[in-house]
Amino acid sequence: MRCPIHPVLAGIAAVLSFSATLAQEPAENAYLLRPERVFDGREIHDGWVVAVHLDRIVGVGPQDRVEAPGKARTIELPGMTLMPGLIEGHAHLFLHPYDETTWNDQVLRESQAYRVVRATRHARATLEAGFTTVRDLGTEGAGYADAGLKRAIDEGIVPGPRLLISSKAIVATGAYGPKGFAPSVDPPLGAEPADAGELVRVVRDQIGHGADFIKVYADYRWGPGGEARPTFSLAELELIVATARSSGRPTVAHAATAEGMRRATLAGVETIEHGDGGTPAVFALMAERGVALCPTIAAGEAVLGYRGWIKGSGETPDRVIQKKASLDAARAAGVTICMGGDAGVFDHGDNGWEMELMVEYGMTPIDVLRAATRINAELFHLDDRVGSIEPGLLADLVAVEGNPAEDISDVRAVRFVMKGGEIVFTDP
Ligand SMILES: [Zn+2]
Repeated sequence: MRCPIHPVLAGIAAVLSFSATLAQEPAENAYLLRPERVFDGREIHDGWVVAVHLDRIVGVGPQDRVEAPGKARTIELPGMTLMPGLIEGHAHLFLHPYDETTWNDQVLRESQAYRVVRATRHARATLEAGFTTVRDLGTEGAGYADAGLKRAIDEGIVPGPRLLISSKAIVATGAYGPKGFAPSVDPPLGAEPADAGELVRVVRDQIGHGADFIKVYADYRWGPGGEARPTFSLAELELIVATARSSGRPTVAHAATAEGMRRATLAGVETIEHGDGGTPAVFALMAERGVALCPTIAAGEAVLGYRGWIKGSGETPDRVIQKKASLDAARAAGVTICMGGDAGVFDHGDNGWEMELMVEYGMTPIDVLRAATRINAELFHLDDRVGSIEPGLLADLVAVEGNPAEDISDVRAVRFVMKGGEIVFTDP
């Protein structure tokens, strides 16, 4: 007799075997993709086609110059632009929008199991929005759960983007939240505190638990008046960077103050997240040292919206004016701009919003497309695998209706997503 659990197990088994098929079937993957145009990570090419075999791109160019692999199935993508799978440069898959639940309550009142279930949905939404790679900038209190999610995605158990993970992230003692409790109450924090010599052990511990890179908060809102002020000394930041670097891993820094950005840059971080208070001098230093800026414009606008700002009505908030000025100054100094919106503060799957805002704040659509593909791949040391449409790279491809090089909002009109040669999403 069947016990009642069987249908459930059968359902799980069906999901697993379906996913396993997705993950392990490359032997028969052979496609010729025929869009209206191809964006290869650099330029738009009208009338180009792309050939895929197994998990790789094997040809790109005008149709008469591309040889389709044997038994290739032709997929017509009329009116569409085929691009490299987009790369989200700054997300928190373990957070969800703060107008649903405040950040404090997510850290303090949501169990890790609950947060993992949510993160699983977030990963799928991100992939279906055309983002086949995500750099996750910290679990914000969910410990090392990102390593488990990454493994489940890699094994084909759940759909999701390729993940680069930072695990817990590192903060200076006393700087980070949740805050405001009686001294006898020891709440869990949104990141791991450490100082001075302890930093060596904490960096190594995070690496040992799967961190692909180290994220450090070089400043935070802990000034006397609650304003952002530097946290770690230059020597501490140098210790973090050197410890991570000797293991082959980069360090990236949250920094919104000019001094936090300056110290992080001098210490050798590779990207600076936010950068709102950047000055021409600090951006010049970043450009000289090859440090990129990930401006996270969308997170800023999202938070203003949660506080009641209605875009287009009333006076433009100082924060928006400041953000635009800092991005202008960074670009004027020649700083490389990363595409990363801080998804999690706002909805996962809405990642294209940052691309729209980058255009609104002064960048050209084609430069934004480059940032979200080839440039992010270079910044994250992935350009030998993803970020461009070139023979030999992984077949991470997304087709959108229209031409996002003319109207960036077309990046939201995702109709087809391929990851590693597997079709993971089509609409319809
Ligand atoms: Zn963030």
